[in-house]
This record gives sequence, C-alpha cells and structure tokens, in this order.
Amino acid sequence: MSKTSEDTNNSNSQSAPDFIREIVAEDIRTNKHGGAIVTRFPPEPNGYLHIGHAKAIVLSFEIAKENGGITHLRFDDTNPIKEDVEYTESIIEDIRWLGYDWEDRLHFASDYFEQLFEWAKELIKKGKAFVCDLSGDEIREYRGTLKKPGKNSPFRDRTVEENLDLFNRMQAGEFEDGTRVLRAKIDMSAANLNMRDPVMYRILHETHHRTGDKWCIYPMYDWAHGQSDSIEGITHSICTLEFEDHRPLYDWFLEQLEVYHPQQIEFARLNMTYTVMSKRKLMLLVENGYVSGWDDPRLPTISGLRRRGYSPESIRKFCELIRIAKRNSTVEISMLEYCIREDLNKHAPRVMAVLNPLKVVITNYPENQVEELECINNPEDPEAGTRNVPFSRELYIEQEDFREDPPKKFFRLAPGREVRLRYAYFIKCVEVVKDDITQEVTEIHCTYDPASRGGSSPDGRKVKATLHWVSAEHSIPAEVHLYDKLFLKENPLDETDGASFLDSVNPDSLKTLTESRVEPSLADKQPGWKCQFERQGYFCVDPDSEQGKLVFNRTVTLRDTWAKIQAAGKK
Ligand code: ATP
Ligand code: MG
Repeated sequence: MSKTSEDTNNSNSQSAPDFIREIVAEDIRTNKHGGAIVTRFPPEPNGYLHIGHAKAIVLSFEIAKENGGITHLRFDDTNPIKEDVEYTESIIEDIRWLGYDWEDRLHFASDYFEQLFEWAKELIKKGKAFVCDLSGDEIREYRGTLKKPGKNSPFRDRTVEENLDLFNRMQAGEFEDGTRVLRAKIDMSAANLNMRDPVMYRILHETHHRTGDKWCIYPMYDWAHGQSDSIEGITHSICTLEFEDHRPLYDWFLEQLEVYHPQQIEFARLNMTYTVMSKRKLMLLVENGYVSGWDDPRLPTISGLRRRGYSPESIRKFCELIRIAKRNSTVEISMLEYCIREDLNKHAPRVMAVLNPLKVVITNYPENQVEELECINNPEDPEAGTRNVPFSRELYIEQEDFREDPPKKFFRLAPGREVRLRYAYFIKCVEVVKDDITQEVTEIHCTYDPASRGGSSPDGRKVKATLHWVSAEHSIPAEVHLYDKLFLKENPLDETDGASFLDSVNPDSLKTLTESRVEPSLADKQPGWKCQFERQGYFCVDPDSEQGKLVFNRTVTLRDTWAKIQAAGKK
C-alpha cells in the first residue's frame, strides 16, 4: 500500500464525527426518543440505484448500526405512472449486495394509503385542507414566484362539508384526472414556495403495482413522506439538501396532525466528475442505447459497478472516505477508482492474459516440450500461494511489447534485443516475420537461454523489460472489454454551451477486444470472479461469459491517479 493511502485511512478513521453523527450522539446523550435510533432509506422504485444512493444507504444504515439502532427500507411508491416491480426488485438486490439488512422492516408508502386518506380528512375537518378545481397551469400561475407573492385560489374558502364531500367523491372515482386536487391551506404569501398551499393529492386513474385499482387518488411526496416516517417511528429522517426547503412543510403536516414527529436532517448529495447521477438522465442513456442497460459497466449504477467488478467493500469504503457535508460538491471519479484498486490490490490473484496477441516462436526450444512454471498468485498476500502455468515453444505476447523500429525510450522487445518473460526465461528476438502483402509483423522468432529458468539472470546480465505471456497452445480465448469515462466533459450537466448532456457521451467509452488469450488456469472461472491481469489492470468475469468463451471487463487500470492528486495536494 502506498504511503498516501495509509495517510488517508488513518486520517479518516481518526477524524471528527460528521454533523449528523454529532446530532445523533447528542440525542442519545439527552435520551431523546428514549435513546432509540431508527433510520430509513426511502427509494422511489422508478429506476436503478446509483452510487449517490449508496452514499445515502451507507449513511443511514451505518449510523443506526453504530448506535445499536435499526433501519427501515421503505419504497416511496406514490407515483404509479413511473414505478415498476423490476425497479423494486433491483433495489432490494442492490442494497443486500452492499451488505445491509432491514430484516422484517420492508415497507411501502402504499401500505399507508388508507391512513393518509383518513389523516387528509382530518386536516379538512380542521380547516387545514381544501379541494381546488384550478388546473395545473392555473395553480402554477397563482403560486407566484420568489419575488411575487401568490394569490389565493378561488376555491380556498369552501366549507368543510363541501370539501369532505368533494374529496370523498375524488376518491370514489367520480372525477377525471387533473380536474381537482386536495391542497393544504397554509399561506399563499409565504416566502417558502413549498408552503403556498401545496398539493396533497391528485387524481390519477392508474393501476398501482401494489394496490392495483383500489385508488384513483395518489398522495404527493411531501404528504406521504413525513407521515410515513411518523407511522414507522423513524427518529432521524436523513435526506439530501434539495429537501431542506421542504422541511417546514414536513414539520407543518406533523404539527397539524399532532402525531409523533421525526426529525428531518439534510446532507449534500454526491456528485461525481465525468458521469451523471439522476435516474431520469440514466434512463435516457439506457433507453436511447448509449449503454447496454441499467447494469452497463460504464454507468454509476450499483448494478453497473457490480458488473464492472467493484466489491461492496470498496463502495462502502468510498462512502466513508467522501464523508458528508452540508455543502454540495463534486467528487473526482478517480477517488472511486482508488477505492477499488486498493481493495483488489490486496485480494485479487495475479494472472497472465494477452489482450492483443503477437505470436512468438522460440526456435531453440524443443518441439512438443511443455514446462509447468511456478508463478506467484499475489505478492501482496503470502497466503495466496503459487500456481503452475504451461510454457511451450509457441507463445503470445502483447503486440505493443514489440517494436521493429523502437523509439528512444522503448525498452521492450525489438530485433536483437533481450527481455525477460515473467517467471519463465530470457528471450532474444532473432527474426521478424511479416505478411507479404501488408508488411505487418505476423510473428517473431526468438531464442531462449535455458540457464535463465524462472526468469533469473544466468550471469548477472541485465534486461530492461519483463513481459507477460501465455502459451499459444494452452491459453484460452477471451473477449475483453476496456472502458473509458462515459462522458468527455468533466461536468456533463454543464449545458451552458447549448449542448445536451447526451452530446458529450464519449464515443470510445467501450473498446471490445475479441482476440485476447488468457492462461489456462482461468478456464472454469465464474461470473463475478476478479483478478489482476499482470501489467493490464484489474478484471472480472462478465455474466455474458459462456463455456469456452470467457468475457472479461476491466474494472480499473493499475495506475493510481487519485493517490497522485492527493500527494500533489500535500506538497
Ligand atoms: P435521482 O435524483 O437520482 O433520480 P432521487 O432522489 O429521485 O434520485 P430517490 O429514490 O427518491 O431518488 O432517492 C432515495 C434517497 O436517496 C433519497 O433520500 C435521496 O435523498 C437519496 N439520494 C438520491 N440521490 C443521491 C445522491 N446523489 N447522493 C446522496 N443521496 C442521494
Ligand atoms: Mg426522488
């Protein structure tokens, strides 16, 4: 492990608790809620989870765990138009994979539709809610702006009886979509726009994935959320900053109802360079075929990162490292890469794979001879042991490790030059074979020095390069996917130049190599298996692999850019 990363680990574990942990610690000290800590993660099942959600998940689950508390998983399923069971299932799978367990505390906002309906009628009876017949556009117009106060709806002063009657008839299905809403009666001149008689219910004749056709009115987020928190006895309702302006409304509803009142606390959402995080934008990438699906390894979705080869540990580590704050900021994508690199460096076995093969014939090596050469599995982990890799007369090396006409600083193989084959022998290039027509190098002929077995120098003579290789006959074919950033712009959402974020999608973000060869020990590896291809980076087996045709995704390269950035910052 490099010095920089050790520093990072230490400084992180010793650093002061963040502001939410301070609030929680104080509440425990003062015995608020009898010392109980109950948090929740409230996804809307309208897309797949991304690394930003991971930040929220890790925060809520870890805070509860650290304090002997519990965490609920609650689906915020209040919008039947956009929601789907596919999303619910993927969210459950992803949170489990991240390593969190809500036990029997799986809830749905739709479980509370009945209670919310009753509570809405209670607010009507208290003169705190009314049925409004303005259209959506009119409501917007009446709302005013930050500079201009709103205007009261002409329906604001309906009697309690009329409101109750209309609301019951809304629920009974007597009115068409969009013709009426239920609104809270607060203050049309409030500085906070969310307090200007916000909509609580709308009419939607839509089938809900859980409640079917039972309801044709659906609660708005603000009305459903706080009340669901209250029903579940949540103590700390942790959410992102965009809900800060909603907090007065969150509090207002609970106060009017005079029910148990959880505390909403906001933190800054995660933004990351060279990617987008909003589900709506991710959906556009998926639906327009920019990527192969929600689990495309280029996406910042949890399922994409999993397929890319990220481990749950590395994602949790990342969430811990970025910490939480009250101010929005953007994290370097290289920091996420740093976290998986550190993890894989410790755990991933090293193997040899040649991505772009060039044939090498060792002319003085006996035909039909095969040697099993001992290779170290992981120099970072003595327990990982060794394995044997077959060596024979015909091998493959990387095309880029040979140059017929080497430039000045090229130290790898060239005519007349000697290099080491990792764990094998010194070889020297004696002849270059070319295609008659294209003049492309098709094969190179080398001699080997039998006295250098294992790659050691026989007489103290030095070589400047050590190359990885596989045996031509024994290696197995593989398809390899190399990834680059999904966007060319650091901030794809900066659309000030008039361009859409889709215009900055990197056309070369995926490179597929179909001629690669890997050492035979990988023949039976299953999807999700992770390793380091020596000199090429960390890779994992893709679920699309088949018997006899392995597919590998490069998780990350070997170079550690974030550590360098950090080191530079410390100077
Ligand atoms: P998106 O904007 O990506 O569509 P969302 O906020 O609409 O996300 P939800 O399913 O409503 O998605 O989010 C569930 C929880 O995850 C919320 O509490 C939200 O605050 C949190 N969350 C969403 N995006 C991020 C992010 N980028 N960083 C941290 N937390 C996030
Ligand atoms: Mg949302």
